[in-house]
Amino acid sequence: MPNPIPLGVFGYPAGHILSPVLHNGAAEALGVDYHYLAYEVRPEQIGEAVRGAQSMGFRGLTITIPHKVAVTEFVDEMSEDARLMGAVNTLVFEEDGRIVGHNTDGIGWLRFVEETTGEYPKGKRCLVLGAGGAARAIAVKIAQCGAEHLEIRNRTAEKAAELARFVEESIPGAKASGGGLENLQEAAAGCGLVVNTTSQGMWGDAEREAASPIPEDAIPESAICSDAVYIPPDTAFLKAAERRGAKTVRGTGWLVYQGAASWKLWTGTDMPTDLVMQKLLDALDKRIKGED
Ligand code: NAP
Repeated sequence: MPNPIPLGVFGYPAGHILSPVLHNGAAEALGVDYHYLAYEVRPEQIGEAVRGAQSMGFRGLTITIPHKVAVTEFVDEMSEDARLMGAVNTLVFEEDGRIVGHNTDGIGWLRFVEETTGEYPKGKRCLVLGAGGAARAIAVKIAQCGAEHLEIRNRTAEKAAELARFVEESIPGAKASGGGLENLQEAAAGCGLVVNTTSQGMWGDAEREAASPIPEDAIPESAICSDAVYIPPDTAFLKAAERRGAKTVRGTGWLVYQGAASWKLWTGTDMPTDLVMQKLLDALDKRIKGED
């Protein structure tokens, strides 16, 4: 019997990576012969590792921290999203030998928001909290959708201002501004979409887990509130948003849907997202209980 077609993720460290749960779950449910493993690749070896995977017949790779920017040097082509986001989270080894870099973070997030809420950023005032890698992917996608205005706020104000400038310069018609975390009430007023891309709310540190990136009374009641943080699935921010009556969009959905977009690029098939979501929630539950 031939070996399954290899897929994998390159990260450093790699012990905590959850994407094997998504992709092996999809392969099993669909009865297709792919096998996905996590590989710990040192930063100085990312180019060699990518070429090695290509030689060994991998169909594709997920690329995660800290390699998302460095790997751009080792691709033959980049998708439009990967170019604008300045980072690659998915590699496809094409049959003609080309290595193509994609970024599925923005499109995965957008599809999940649309599916959960039936709404789209077009015409909305939007607030993004944070200005790191996840923020860049979301800011680009929000601007591409035709948001009325994008406000970016970050602990390090200059990074938010820089990202806002980049968005305005790169996406025709985009209107964006950036600043620090002061006056969030004012920044959020009238926003139809608020996205947290900071690590505030994340499990692993009690103080951080209890923190919301925005005061509860600043969350607009009619907004869609989306969190990048996926562990725990219901973060302090999403709980606060729910108390305000806002629509909430979990980070677990973003994680599954960016994986589904990568899976589609590699296999041409649709990931069974409901089933994979349940597998992810079970894995997160085990992690929180210290059982994995
Ligand atoms: P990153 O590039 O390191 O950015 C981290 C961001 O969090 C920065 O804006 C940083 O502000 C801010 N931050 C960190 N500690 C803070 C604090 N105590 N108070 C306020 N702001 C703080 O990381 P990233 O790749 O963008 O990821 C950010 C989060 O999104 C992580 O939790 C990651 O797991 C999650 N994520 C989830 C998905 C998904 O599929 N659900 C996808 C991508 C990322 P400074 O610039 O001031 O340091």
